[in-house]
Amino acid sequence: MTASGASAPLVITDALLVTQDAGRRVVRGDLRIENGRFVHIGPGASRAGAEIIDGRAFAAVPGFVNVHTHIAMSLLRGIADDRDLGGFLEILFRVDALRTEADVEAGARVGVAELLLGGTTTFLDLYYSEDAIARAAESLGIRAFLGWAVVDPDKTTQTGKPLDNARGFLDRWKGHPTVTPLVAPQGVYVCDRETWLGAKELAERYGTLCHFHLSETRREVHEHEAKTGRRPAVWLEEIGFFGPRSVAAHAVWLTGQEIELLARHRVGIAHCPSSNLKLASGGVAPVVELRAAGAVVGLGTDSVASNNSLSMFREMQLAGLIQKNQRWDASVLPAQELLDMATIDGARILGRGAELGSLEVGKRADFSLVRLDHPSLLPARPEAIVSHLAYSASDEAVDSVFVEGAAVVRARTLVRGDWNALRIQAENAAEALWAGRGK
Ligand SMILES: [Zn+2]
Repeated sequence: MTASGASAPLVITDALLVTQDAGRRVVRGDLRIENGRFVHIGPGASRAGAEIIDGRAFAAVPGFVNVHTHIAMSLLRGIADDRDLGGFLEILFRVDALRTEADVEAGARVGVAELLLGGTTTFLDLYYSEDAIARAAESLGIRAFLGWAVVDPDKTTQTGKPLDNARGFLDRWKGHPTVTPLVAPQGVYVCDRETWLGAKELAERYGTLCHFHLSETRREVHEHEAKTGRRPAVWLEEIGFFGPRSVAAHAVWLTGQEIELLARHRVGIAHCPSSNLKLASGGVAPVVELRAAGAVVGLGTDSVASNNSLSMFREMQLAGLIQKNQRWDASVLPAQELLDMATIDGARILGRGAELGSLEVGKRADFSLVRLDHPSLLPARPEAIVSHLAYSASDEAVDSVFVEGAAVVRARTLVRGDWNALRIQAENAAEALWAGRGK
């Protein structure tokens, strides 16, 4: 099995296809995949020369696109619960200083496994030592957009200058079929003007994305305003940072002016409701206003230290419930829009809307088969399937997952890795980190 999917054609017969195409059609039919791409969607696919999977018991759903993670932090689930962002980071920074590249790789492998087993086929990560994460992603077969974390040279724990390290990472992984390297300025609290513009310049030179944290807490906004006289998004526009290939995580504390400018610059938004709630960021991200202004909003889980799950099902449900309750309006962010955020809109944010995020002829065959006999999908009626995916389905309903037409999960088992081996390595790596966490 190769990353380019150069294996025998694959046909899934008679599945419930949740296409997420322009008409958002849900139809019974077949999928035929050749060379990693869909070549037929609907009834009557040719079975010639193909491996056949009987799809009658499944919904075929586009792979989820998780647009904000720190995937290697899977070793740290539960290590800093029930603290605000300041107290949370205190522990995280202490543990961070102990972490080796082998720890990063062990954490990334179990994190990627959790993503795949929950139907996620693409993720956008922000971290350092991204080579280790790229190796983990490549070995298990997920599609990865990996942002090398960049901060001011005097604020880093990285060896060498972060921007130089990011450039090295871009050089090493550019052109890879399933790993896309990118640049990730951490946030206004650790990046000055030179760092932001250096990151942008680097991303433009390599034709890739910038991913960053933006206005997660009121404190971040107020401190930046005290320092510069501008709110973060306004300041980033003023220094000339924003462009269409940038993705902002969180974006909770925004004014109307900031919403308008983010939409105008086509900045993608990674909404992370679980993390915001758990760290008590307060307020509610203005998802409805951002979408109304024309911004594209996707969903991110953030890390399992602040979530504590990588489930996109949970994230969809929570994103919808928060907006409805906060606005006293049950009609906002309906199930279809939540599923859009988890699939096609996530792909659009990554600049890959023409390639990923839906089941359409010509697109890359990243999808999952979700069990229609699972209790969380009962009654498995076509007219309710989008509702079930957004509001009730659990990761355990995901049976099989394909990336570029190649199976990476079958019958809830990783195809390209052994969960128990990955788990034991991760438990061992967690030992020293947890011992060093302090109180
Ligand atoms: Zn984050």
